[in-house]
Amino acid sequence: MTELTCIVCPKGCRLKVDEENGFAVTGASCPRGTAYGKKELTAPTRTVTSTVAIEGALHSRLPVKTSQEIDRALVKEAVAALKNVQVKAPVSTGDVILENVLGTGTDFIATKTMGRI
Ligand code: SF4
Repeated sequence: MTELTCIVCPKGCRLKVDEENGFAVTGASCPRGTAYGKKELTAPTRTVTSTVAIEGALHSRLPVKTSQEIDRALVKEAVAALKNVQVKAPVSTGDVILENVLGTGTDFIATKTMGRI
């Protein structure tokens, strides 16, 4: 039995996941928590947020995030893939900054619009 806190919403329900009983989840107040508890122990994923360098904008870093969740084990490598990425303003929210991160089929996209100065 594994105990964890559901991070799907701010309520933070305490979940118990029974690995020996088909990853049955107890303690969730809604179905999203049940799904989260099972997935967290079988195939955990995360949305990755970071920043990249940007030229020609008011600020020097552009915030980005993955367009979908990726395997939690790939988070560090995904952030490292952004290290040498440099974009030029203007950039709009939702623009693809890095395609197909680590072959996952997920892109890093801009989460902020930054005009050219
Ligand atoms: S189980 Fe449902 S209500 Fe509880 S924290 Fe998760 S999403 Fe929120």
